[in-house]
This record gives sequence, structure tokens and C-alpha cells, in this order.
Amino acid sequence: MDEFKKIRDLMVETQLITRGIKDRRVLDAMRRVPRHLFVDESIQYKAYDDMALPIGEGQTISQPYMVAIMTELLELKGNEKILEIGTGSGYQAVILAELSKEVYTIERVAVLVKRAEERFNFLGYGNIHVKVGDGTLGWPEESPFDRVIITAGTPKIPDPLIEQLSEGGIIIAPVGDRFSQQLIKVKKSKGRLSEEYHTPCIFVPLIGEYGWKGED
Ligand code: SAM
Repeated sequence: MDEFKKIRDLMVETQLITRGIKDRRVLDAMRRVPRHLFVDESIQYKAYDDMALPIGEGQTISQPYMVAIMTELLELKGNEKILEIGTGSGYQAVILAELSKEVYTIERVAVLVKRAEERFNFLGYGNIHVKVGDGTLGWPEESPFDRVIITAGTPKIPDPLIEQLSEGGIIIAPVGDRFSQQLIKVKKSKGRLSEEYHTPCIFVPLIGEYGWKGED
């Protein structure tokens, strides 16, 4: 049992279950995955706090509750092929890898990809594929995807990601303006899209051809 196990269980009880996360598989994955290994050693003591944390390069690892609700909304059964946009620390990708068959994840900042890859290897996740690039274009060679999760705030869901979603598939994304968004769940059924609106949220911007224009 690692030294953070107790505090991780407490995170699940006090931040996730009390806020209504019910999917047992999601709760168990978040009890298992050592979130403290996805932040710098100097802030590991904060890894289970109820907040997003910096991961360098002006980017963040999302708040545990946000990871949990986005994952729950994906309705994973275990055999899905998932596309994640915004690898960041790699924590969300690992939670997804625990609950599905294959995870494809794209990050625009190369140094973050390098660090995330080291974590995937260290923890032994052979079902995560990561690359540097503009995730708003998707990963056409690997499409279609059963699920798509965008972990950066976007003005709208990028068209290529809708095109690369399989029939019956689900997309979860924080959609809104640059400083505040709302989680949206999109389902593709018989070629048509339906939308559900969920919790308000604040994510760093999705920067790319079908997202926000970069200031860098
Ligand atoms: N899922 C991450 C985790 O578990 O740590 C948190 C993601 S962080 C909130 C958002 C990430 O999206 C940042 O690392 C940022 O560099 C990345 N990003 C922004 N625009 C992107 C794009 N067009 N393609 C890929 N990644 C992008």
C-alpha cells in the first residue's frame, strides 16, 4: 500500500461520492491510480486536494472531480477505443486506460508528451498511444473512435472530432468562452447528434485549427 492510499480513498469519499459520482468502476479506478505521480515532486502533497494543479508550461492537471465526472459521462464498459485531446500530465489518460481497451491521446506541448510517456511506461500502461500535435484535427488514421474526450476549453466541438466519432459514440467537452465553459455530452445516433448540458467548468484553452487561435 503506497503512502498516499489513505488520502486517495478520502479524496474519493469526500470529493467524488458526496458530489454524486456513482459509477463504481470510475470510483475504483480513482482509488487505484497514484495521482501524486502525475505532478512535480515538490507539490505531491497537494495531489489529492480538491483543485486543479500546475504541471508546467502554463498547463494544469484537472481537479479530481472534473476527471471523475467527465469519465463517468463517457459511460465506459471496457471495450472502447478512446481519443483524448490534451494529454497534459497523462492522469486522465491513465484513468481511461483502466476502464477501456485503447486510449489515443494528443498533446500540443512536446515536453508534456515526453513526461506523460515516461509515466505510462513506468506504470506499465501498454494500451495508451500518445503523440504531439494539434488534437483539434483528431487522429484520422486511427479513427473511428467510440469515445472522444476534450480536456481543454473550446468554443465549439471541432468538426474533425465529430467526423471521427463512431455510430453510437459519445464526445465530452468543456464548451464556452475562453474563461468559462460548460461540460457538454454529444451522442451520435443514426448519424444525428444530440446534446446534453452538464456542470459549469474552467479549463485552459484548446489551441488549434478548430479551437482558439494561439497567442504563442
Ligand atoms: N488531461 C490532462 C491531465 O490529465 O493532466 C489535463 C489537460 S490540461 C487541462 C489541457 C491540455 O490541453 C494542456 O496540456 C494543453 O497543452 C493541451 N492542449 C491545448 N490545445 C491543444 C490541442 N489543440 N491539441 C492537443 N492538446 C492541446
